[in-house]
Amino acid sequence: MDMNKRIARWNEEAAGCTCGSRHHEVRMQICMESGALHKIAPYVVSQGYKQASVVYDDNTGNAAGRKVAGLLLNAGVTVNEVLLEANKAGDVIADEAFIVKLLLGVSNNSEAVLAVGSGTVHDLVRFVCFKMNIPFLSVPTAASVDGFTSAGAPLIIGGVKQTFQATAPDAIFADLEVLSRAPQVLTAAGFGDMLGKFTSLADWKVSRDLGQEPFCPLAYLMTEEALESCITHISDIAEGSETGVSILMEALIVSGISMLMIDHSRPASGGEHHISHRLEMDFIEQGRPAILHGAKVGVASALLTDIYRGLYEKETEPAFEAYKQLPQREQMQDWLRVTGGPATLADLDVTESAFQIALATAHTLRPRYTGLTYRNERVSPEMR
Ligand SMILES: [Zn+2]
Ligand SMILES: [Zn+2]
Repeated sequence: MDMNKRIARWNEEAAGCTCGSRHHEVRMQICMESGALHKIAPYVVSQGYKQASVVYDDNTGNAAGRKVAGLLLNAGVTVNEVLLEANKAGDVIADEAFIVKLLLGVSNNSEAVLAVGSGTVHDLVRFVCFKMNIPFLSVPTAASVDGFTSAGAPLIIGGVKQTFQATAPDAIFADLEVLSRAPQVLTAAGFGDMLGKFTSLADWKVSRDLGQEPFCPLAYLMTEEALESCITHISDIAEGSETGVSILMEALIVSGISMLMIDHSRPASGGEHHISHRLEMDFIEQGRPAILHGAKVGVASALLTDIYRGLYEKETEPAFEAYKQLPQREQMQDWLRVTGGPATLADLDVTESAFQIALATAHTLRPRYTGLTYRNERVSPEMR
């Protein structure tokens, strides 16, 4: 079914959901097809925008950014191109320095900003657009993360990763030709971000039962179905074909929309994400090149399944029934490997001791009750 029709149906279902959470109506145009880049200029013109900024980095400018700028120019739109050049470590990161670069680059006359690239380019643009009070349009260049459609911007401020209020895109243009040409490690990272839903969904039940946190069965089901579709079609995703990236991108968008709907990341982000955030902060502090978000999440989720199953086996807490059905670590790592992504700590170049520190401290990063919170606060160290 067409994504826009699916969104309309979820909005209807959300209106009738009795979970007690407030459900936000999702209004986002989604264009996902081969050649979607050519739909951007007509959309921009139809919205009456005469001036637009196009933001990209060294890689995504070649992948799509310059082409998008050219198509807009041809349609009579005044275009201001903003190239975000990599820092000394070779990365674009969502930190203070890049926020200022973007603020300086986006022309004050822009009526819309197009984020062409990765999740990081999107997080910078969504934050700056929120502050400038102008709409932004999403043009992902790889199916690498579920954050494209997010309203929150995870930013690294003073070395600490925190999520700030920002804005969701008005429209997303996911060109399957562009996505299928992306390096396979990026597609594998998107798959890793989806694989992490095994532990995030299980953690959500634990948050509900042990932390009395809000739980929405509709958002849970949306995310669960998106995850299942990735597992069912893993060989297409592993090929990085247009079919594969379209299945993966759809799952990533659905995951993003489930978060938008309930205005919280609970369905998509549990202990595995908290560990990933902790590792990311360590890398930045050490001046090491960043690891892809989904790569860290996938490996962390695989390792957590053992720990979480251990909680189910050793603790008498009924909430841990949620961990009983988690796939085995080896199975999770096989899936990661098949798609061409890292599967172990060694693959990520993260030491066992760095991981143990992340494991023991990550629960303090977010005010959320997960299996990690229980493990670190309720289980004695020698029993962990
Ligand atoms: Zn994620
Ligand atoms: Zn609900």
